[in-house]
Formats: sequence, C-alpha cells, structure tokens
Amino acid sequence: MQGFSKVILKKGKDESLLRFHPWIFSGAIQKIKGPVEEGDVVAVYNHERRFLGFGHYQIGSIMVRVFSFEEEVPDLAFWTEKIASAWKLRQDIGLAERQDTNVFRLIHGEGDGMPGLIVDYYNGTVVYQAHSVGMWLNRSLIAEAIRNVLGERVSTIYDKSAKTLPFKADVEPEDGYLWGESTTHEVMEYGNKFEVDWETGQKTGFFVDQRENRKLLADYAKDRDVLNMFCYSGGFSFYAMNGGARMVHSVDASAKAIELTNRNVELNFPGDQRHEAFTADAFDFMREIKDKYDLIVLDPPAFAKHQRVVRQALQGYKKLNARAFSQIRPGGIVFTFSCSQAVSKDQFRQAVFSGAAIAQRKVRILHQLTQPADHPIDIYHPEGEYLKGLVLYVE
Ligand code: SAH
Repeated sequence: MQGFSKVILKKGKDESLLRFHPWIFSGAIQKIKGPVEEGDVVAVYNHERRFLGFGHYQIGSIMVRVFSFEEEVPDLAFWTEKIASAWKLRQDIGLAERQDTNVFRLIHGEGDGMPGLIVDYYNGTVVYQAHSVGMWLNRSLIAEAIRNVLGERVSTIYDKSAKTLPFKADVEPEDGYLWGESTTHEVMEYGNKFEVDWETGQKTGFFVDQRENRKLLADYAKDRDVLNMFCYSGGFSFYAMNGGARMVHSVDASAKAIELTNRNVELNFPGDQRHEAFTADAFDFMREIKDKYDLIVLDPPAFAKHQRVVRQALQGYKKLNARAFSQIRPGGIVFTFSCSQAVSKDQFRQAVFSGAAIAQRKVRILHQLTQPADHPIDIYHPEGEYLKGLVLYVE
C-alpha cells in the first residue's frame, strides 16, 4: 500500500489477525518499514508480505490497533461506511428510533470495528472520546463521517479526549466542540429525564451502559427501601422510584454527582419526599446500615484498571459485597456490578461468593447481567466484554 509505513509481523504471529483479532502486541512485530509516530495509520503484513490490515500505531505493549482487514484506503468514504454500519446496528436493534430513549452508544470501540474510539449519542449531541492518538488525529474526518450518516439527527459534536488519551502520548489535546455548539443537555432514557453534563461530567457525561440493568431494577423496587450506592447522576434511583420504592437513598463520594442526582430527581419527581442523597464514601456509609434497606445497588468505578491490580480489586469487591450481604434485611435483593475489564466474570463471581460467605447469609443468583446491545462485543475480541453484574436474593 503506497503512502503508509509498513509493519511486518514475525512468522506465525499473523494467526490472531487472520482470525480478526484487532490487537498487535510489540513482541509480534519483526520490523517497521518507514517512519512512524504515535497515531499514524500503518499497513500490516505477515512475514511473507501478505497484506493483513490497516491500524493505528501506538507506543505501548499493544503497538497496532487494527480497524480494517481490507485493502482499502481509510478516507472519508471508508469512515462513513464504518459509521453507517454502527448506525445500522442501532437501528436494527430498535434503539435509534425509540420515542422514549434518545441516549445510546453509537460507537463502542472494537465492538464496532473502531478500536480506541467511544462515541455516545445524547439527543442530537454526539460526544467523541478517543482512547488512542490515532482516533484522536482522525477526529475531523470521523466527525464528518458521523454528520454524513446521521444527517439531521446530529446537531453538535463534542470532543472529550483530553483525559482519555494515553498519558505518554506527545500531544496536547483540549476538549471542545468539533461542530456546532450545544444548547440542550436534557436527554431521555426509557422516559426518565436526565441532565447530562458532557463538558465537565464523568466519562462522556453519563453511564449509558447501565440502561437495561436500571430498567430491570424497577421490577424489584416495589415497596422496598433502596440504597443506590455509587449513584453518579442518580440513574438507578429514578427507576426505583418509578417501580414504586418506599424510600430511595442515593450515595456518591462526589459532591458534584450528588448535585446532579438531586437536580435529576427534581426533574422527574418534583417535590417527591421519598428520595434523599448523601455525599459519602461507600465504605463509611455502609458501616452502619443494619436492616435499613431491602434493595441495595453496588455499582462502583472500575477497581482494577490494569491486570497488575486485579487481586487488590477482588478484595475490594469482596469487602463491599460482604457489607451489603451482612446488613441487608432478610428477603433483600442486591444488584452488584463490576465494570473492570481486567476482572473476569468468574473472578467477580468468586469475589461476590466470598463476600456472601463472610456474611454467612444464604444467597442465590437471580440474574446474570452484562452490557447492553449498543455496547456490542466483537466475537473475535472477547476482551470487549467488561460489564458484569449479578442480581442476588439474600434470605
Ligand atoms: N451507577 C451510576 C454510575 C456509577 S459510576 C449510574 O448508573 O450512572 C461510579 C461512581 O462511584 C462515580 O460517580 C464516583 O464518583 C463514585 N465513587 C468512586 N469512589 C467512591 C467511593 N469510595 N464511595 C462512594 N462513591 C464513589
């Protein structure tokens, strides 16, 4: 391929690529022909010079993230086709056209064949979040492709990559609007209204990935006293209130999150006395909650951001769940989650199991939860499965 530096793999190191796995580790590379800088598009070949794909070059143990296994130049038409395929999936699963929901994930990294890129859709505003320099350098092109495909469905594109690019990268990104400027920050998820602050909020502004799990919670909320621990902007709390909860307590360590939660509760349930929010550390708050609640949600931030700290993270999950199990009322229900990619489903379940054993309660699994359909997992890239949840009945 003319115009692109070439990454040549060692003999035998092309197998995972031939099975469409998109990551190339540094140890698999025999040599690089031509100058490369972090974020460049490179063409990948096996040791016999057979073309394998195009990817973004990066410095680190994953050296190339492949976004195409075809021999076609990644220009505007190429990216437009990629976005069209992602948009089609959201249409085919019925999400793009719903009347009661106008927030969803449009691009989920490897799950949509675009490693290093997250794009969320918020009622006309698209939030673009690059996790690789390559996807950040391509932002104008991809933003144009998004406009090509979504047409009037998009009014604003905001780039929020300043905090998510690899910290060693030699670039100085600033967050800002790539196109348009937003006026409305209100979105709707299954009829619940949320104010989303993509400019200063966590992640892209909202935890889009808990939509289906929040919806399930409503089924269990009737006449229960609910603790929504790690509430962020209050998502699980509204579903609990909609489901007929007697009382809902939302807790988060961030004062800003509690402010957001209170604003959102007022938006959906003005003057409703059933809800109260507390700024507190989870472990402190949960020290003395004996028999206070009969539905507890535990949705902590990723305890393990790297493989190195998995053991420590598992201890955290164990301790947190033990606190909930030991104090929840008999007949109570726990919704417990881990969004750590580095922690496997089995490891998480084992940690929750240990928590139950510490609490010496009889616990049964009612549901096993995961990420929703707009966070698809490429079957050739099982690492894309990151959200794990269990709904448990505590006797
Ligand atoms: N359940 C939320 C998302 C939770 S994200 C939703 O549905 O939208 C994790 C949250 O945990 C963040 O808001 C973060 O501020 C909060 N957090 C992090 N550490 C905490 C701690 N030690 N105690 C309480 N909250 C914490």
